[in-house]
Amino acid sequence: MYSDLSLTHFMSGLEKRNPGEVEFHQAVYEVAESVIPFILDNPVYQKAAILQRMTEPDRSIIFKVVWEDDAGNIRLNRGYRVQFNNSIGPYKGGLRFHPSVNLSILKFLGFEQTFKNSLTTLPMGAAKGGSDFNPKGKSDREVIRFCQSFMTELSHYIGPNTDIPAGDVGVGAREISFMFGQYKRLRHEFTGALTGKALEFGGSLIRTEATGYGAAFFMEAMLQHRDDSIRGKKCVLSGSGNVALYCAEKIIQLGGKVVTLSDSSGFIYDEQGIDADKLAYLIELKTHQRGRISEYAEKYRCDYFPTQSPWNIRCDLAFPCATQNEIDKKSAHALVSNGCIAVAEGANMPTTIEAIKVLQHAKLLFAPGKAANAGGVALSGLEMTQNSVRLSWSATELEDRLATIMKDIHRQCVKYSDDGDYVNYVNGANIAGFIKVANAMLAYGV
Ligand code: GLU
Repeated sequence: MYSDLSLTHFMSGLEKRNPGEVEFHQAVYEVAESVIPFILDNPVYQKAAILQRMTEPDRSIIFKVVWEDDAGNIRLNRGYRVQFNNSIGPYKGGLRFHPSVNLSILKFLGFEQTFKNSLTTLPMGAAKGGSDFNPKGKSDREVIRFCQSFMTELSHYIGPNTDIPAGDVGVGAREISFMFGQYKRLRHEFTGALTGKALEFGGSLIRTEATGYGAAFFMEAMLQHRDDSIRGKKCVLSGSGNVALYCAEKIIQLGGKVVTLSDSSGFIYDEQGIDADKLAYLIELKTHQRGRISEYAEKYRCDYFPTQSPWNIRCDLAFPCATQNEIDKKSAHALVSNGCIAVAEGANMPTTIEAIKVLQHAKLLFAPGKAANAGGVALSGLEMTQNSVRLSWSATELEDRLATIMKDIHRQCVKYSDDGDYVNYVNGANIAGFIKVANAMLAYGV
């Protein structure tokens, strides 16, 4: 049945089974392109239909979320949890609250999580969930009511040894706390069934910083592999959530110069560089006051470009840390012609497939999100470990472990890249991530 494992044949089967799910198709295509040649060289995986089985979630749970807004109106949203694969550990992955959330986006994210979690070296399976609820502009009381209603249903499907959700876009410490409170109330037990918790109730130091720090560490590892480093490099970043802000912090600590950050209304360009003091203001503005990035431009009198993204700015290094498909083919050409030498994805799938080809063709170093942004879920894994042994590790210990994990992910990518001297991090990450999960699936039999 699976003797014809050509990319075209495989993709047309997948598209037929999952009609209209374009983001999911894109994520699978990127992986299939790398792993099909590997599978053809290793027929044991082909015979067991491993890729076909890996691209079908174990289950997708869809549920109704009803809550009351401050004006007393009853509101309706849809909630999801896609439990993708638990071959190497309990389901693990974030929850996204954003109006764009649908099954296709969560399947793409859950599928990516399979490979990402495998690369972290920790025993974590893959899942993703969320809702089309938009926390922006909602009062704390509304967010509480939504989170409690959402968790009332989700609580049936999760648990510290079953499925451990965390944050993602639109789900930060505030939302995790509301959900954890409700979970604890409903289950009448105190367990680490969510990660990204506050420190007072089982959260881990540097969990908030980890995705951003990890992306900077991964970039440093790619450059060091070529006897270079972040020091002195001009860096453009998109986004202004935790990933972008803490990626900026680590870049600054490593001696790089961060000149841009963005939000959904535009980007700031600070030619002088965003230093530690200015970044502290931004962290306060974005994470505590929920302000707009344009306020930074007013305060520090730098350029602000409404409705645009920063990929036309001359730079050495680029870190897309906002959302999926933010670097298209045109932006990729702009990066190449402006002298950029490396791109590390802080967000999940921010670069389109055509754009990746442009960057790789020009021999830029390109780190896919499943490798470069795995630091977040890796730290979640370390939070789970601390919860299990009922201990808290120090920030230094955790940062050391994070740095070691990111170096290990880099090593795995280099090992499985098959492009000679040029390290193809996409192939490397996909194949390395695949092997661990595939071998576990083989070991279980059918
Ligand atoms: N949402 C993050 C990711 O995309 C973190 C998931 C987690 O910590 O479980 O990997």
